[in-house]
Amino acid sequence: MIVKNHDNSVLLTFDDGPTEYLSEILSILDEKNVQGVFFWQSNLLTNGTPWKRVLSNGHLIGSHAHSHPNFEELIYEEQYEEVRRSKEMLEKMIGNRIEIFRPPYGLYDSNTHRVANELNLRIILWKVASWDWKHGLDEVDDIVENVVDNVSKGDIVLLHELPQTIEALPRIIDGIRQKGLVLAEPSKKRF
Ligand SMILES: [Zn+2]
Repeated sequence: MIVKNHDNSVLLTFDDGPTEYLSEILSILDEKNVQGVFFWQSNLLTNGTPWKRVLSNGHLIGSHAHSHPNFEELIYEEQYEEVRRSKEMLEKMIGNRIEIFRPPYGLYDSNTHRVANELNLRIILWKVASWDWKHGLDEVDDIVENVVDNVSKGDIVLLHELPQTIEALPRIIDGIRQKGLVLAEPSKKRF
């Protein structure tokens, strides 16, 4: 289970997509020359999901299960099916191996570890939560502060594909860099 990045760089991760806000998030990351990780739920995949742009810009794609259930409430077989299905659907779409998994809500139990091992997935959690899902467009300052005030070397940051995240993201990236921290390049490493 991973909560820190081993090379001291700060890693931005985006959960609960792909959503209609993905393209704008990608444009900001591209403009700022930042690479992140997208944990997608496979029940949101469509023919229009811009996965090629995600990969060609150097981002990684991981599994966030198929339908975003609470894994603590699922028996082993249900957990296995959620993860297997999402891994298979994502791999079929992008043509690459999916190697990382983030359990919905960050909730898991011993069965989740077993499922991840059996499906050759590393479980990636986070160290710093932006609480972007909790704060609306009128509370973008809070989202920026939640990250910039708390982030330090090697931290994995939790964000979501949401409109308020689009507003906060450029300031989050600038704020992290102003603290002298380096942002990760996930395409150049393996978890
Ligand atoms: Zn989620």
